[in-house]
Amino acid sequence: TGPLLSVEDLVVEHRTPGRPVVRAVAGASLHVAAGEVVGLVGESGCGKSTLARAVCGLHGAASGRILVGGHPVTPLGLRRRDPALTGVQMVFQDPYSSLNPRRRVGAQIADGLRAAGDTAASPADLLERVGLPRAFAGRYPHEFSGGQRQRVAIARALAARPSLLIGDEPISALDASAQAQVARLMRDLAVESGAGLLFISHDLSVVRLIADRIAVMYLGKVVETGPTAEVWADPGHPYTRALLAAIPSPDGAGVLPAELPGDVPDPADPPSGCRFHPRCPLVMDVCREREPLGGSAQSGPVACWLHQPEPSSPS
Ligand code: SF4
Ligand code: MG
Repeated sequence: TGPLLSVEDLVVEHRTPGRPVVRAVAGASLHVAAGEVVGLVGESGCGKSTLARAVCGLHGAASGRILVGGHPVTPLGLRRRDPALTGVQMVFQDPYSSLNPRRRVGAQIADGLRAAGDTAASPADLLERVGLPRAFAGRYPHEFSGGQRQRVAIARALAARPSLLIGDEPISALDASAQAQVARLMRDLAVESGAGLLFISHDLSVVRLIADRIAVMYLGKVVETGPTAEVWADPGHPYTRALLAAIPSPDGAGVLPAELPGDVPDPADPPSGCRFHPRCPLVMDVCREREPLGGSAQSGPVACWLHQPEPSSPS
């Protein structure tokens, strides 16, 4: 049996009439095992959310493949009840828009229980698991704080008994005080139920608290992956080093470090060779011409010429 989630050389393109095609995900590979917590980090616009949405069948792949439990995910499989996707649940960034404001939260959690065919558990049981009073099942979303709403969204996701839980920036809209709590809650509940968790965030300090493994994404590619403690202690990719050197701002949002010049390039017109080369303090000639392999278990953990054998001749 392979990993629970396997993303291999995934390419996802955004097409807007009259505008250049944007490769939001440009050959990314990623794996999540059952019971494992993987933190997917990177600046906004690097393709993290698009990758997550593709895993949920909300974007089609231009090439590459996505397997959940060994089954290929097909686009819009959620609507078609793709068997690969019945066990995938996503918690979105904005808990205000992801819950129906006109229905009591207990009824919304009950939908998940019904979808999973669970007749034993009640919505109040799920609320209790996410640390909310059982009586809150009778309340409407507007009666909750942002952190509480995100707990409700997690309860609703858990009700469907996911084998893979995906959080797409699930804490970035929350108060600093709620961020670590909600992140830890997702981790604990995923591990407890044997599910895998793909936790997407731009906040490395929180990811460090909960992830077994980190995958660092830059401009559509996973450029480094490894056990959290190892990546933290000895980051291999210059971009990972720059991210780790970033000091979180007081509101908890990550900020770009001073030593990383420039903005993320336009994904519609990515740089040649290594996509990080215009911003890299260690850039070499080969970096401008040839794209390094790496960034996955198969190809080596770090997609950088400093960590890959140099090509014998330029192409
Ligand atoms: Fe920097 Fe070159 Fe490594 Fe890219 S391949 S990160 S430009 S050293
Ligand atoms: Mg996003």
